[in-house]
Amino acid sequence: MSIETNILEQIKKYETIIIHRHQRPDPDAYGSQCGLAAIIRMNFPDKKVYQVGENVHGLSWIAEQEKIEDDTYKEALVIVTDTANQPRVDDKRYTKGKYLIKIDHHPNEDPYGDICWVNPHASSCSEMIMDLVNAVEGQLTVPDDAARMLYAGIIGDTGRFMYDATTPHTMRIAGQLMEHDFEAAKINQKLDSIALPVARLAAYVYENMTITENGAAYIVLPREILEKFEIKDASTAPIVPLLGKIIEVKCWTILVQQKDGSFRLRIRSKGPVINELAKEYAGGGHPLASGAFMPDGEKIPEYIKKLDAIAAGYTGESND
Ligand code: AMP
Repeated sequence: MSIETNILEQIKKYETIIIHRHQRPDPDAYGSQCGLAAIIRMNFPDKKVYQVGENVHGLSWIAEQEKIEDDTYKEALVIVTDTANQPRVDDKRYTKGKYLIKIDHHPNEDPYGDICWVNPHASSCSEMIMDLVNAVEGQLTVPDDAARMLYAGIIGDTGRFMYDATTPHTMRIAGQLMEHDFEAAKINQKLDSIALPVARLAAYVYENMTITENGAAYIVLPREILEKFEIKDASTAPIVPLLGKIIEVKCWTILVQQKDGSFRLRIRSKGPVINELAKEYAGGGHPLASGAFMPDGEKIPEYIKKLDAIAAGYTGESND
C-alpha cells in the first residue's frame, strides 16, 4: 500500500480528525491544514473535522481556526501539516490523539508520527495535499474553497512561483487548482499587498541595512523600531524578501527582537545553503529559507560573520 493510500485509509477509519500546523503560521501552514480539512469534510460529511491553533488576524481571509476541548482528542486521528519538528507544532495537544500523521515538505530532521510523509522536494505542503488527492485517484473530490486555500499556500511558499522550489509539477498543481471557482489573481494580489506601516518599515530597512563585502545583507529590528513603526512580529513577513531583491545580495537575514529581548532570525538565500547556520542557532528550515533564535544580541556579530563566510564560499550562480 502506498503511503498516500495508507493516509486515506486512516482518514476513513476515524470519526474525529484534528488537523494542526506550525506556530507563527504562514499561508502554506493555513492552506495545507485548512485545505485538507475542507477536502475531508466534503468527502466524509459524517466525520467531525477540526482545524486548530492560534487564530492569526492577517490570515483570517484564508480560514478560521477552531477551539476544541481536550476530550475531543480521545479517539481522534491527528494530522500535522507543514511542521518539521515537534516543538513547532501549534497546540501541544497534538500527541493526545489515537494516531498521528505528519505531512511535511521540510527536511525530515524530526520524523515523528505513526505515519510520516515528507517530501522536501515539494514547493509547499499545500502542493503535497494535492499530491495526496491525485495519488488516490478519484477517491477525494476537492471543493472550490479548498482549492482556494491550497493555491494560497503554494503562492505563499513559492513567492508567487519565484523561489527555487517551484517545479513544473508545482505549476501543474497550481493549474489544476485554478480550474476551480475562485479568483486566483485576487490571491496573488493579496499576498503581494502590504499595510502602510509595513511600507514605511520597508523604507527604513532599505535605508539602514548593511551589505557585507561578500554579499550577505542584514538588518536588526530592535523593539523601539518595531514600536515606532507600529509593527508586530507577525507583520515582518513581507519585509523578509526585500533584501534579496538587491542584485549584489546572495544571502540575507533579518533579526527581529521579541518582547522578552530575544531575537527571531529570519534567513534567506539565492544560492548559498543557510539551514546549517540556522541549526547552529536553535533553528532550521529549508536550504534557502530558514529561521532561528538568539536569547540576546550578544552573538549577532559572530552570526553575521558566519553568514558573510557562507556568502564568500559560494561559487555557484546567484542572479547578479
Ligand atoms: P520564517 O523566517 O520564520 O518564515 O522561517 C523560514 C523557514 O524556516 C520556514 O520554512 C520554517 O519552517 C523554518 N524555521 C523557522 N524557524 C525555525 C525554527 N526555530 N526551527 C526550525 N525551523 C524553523
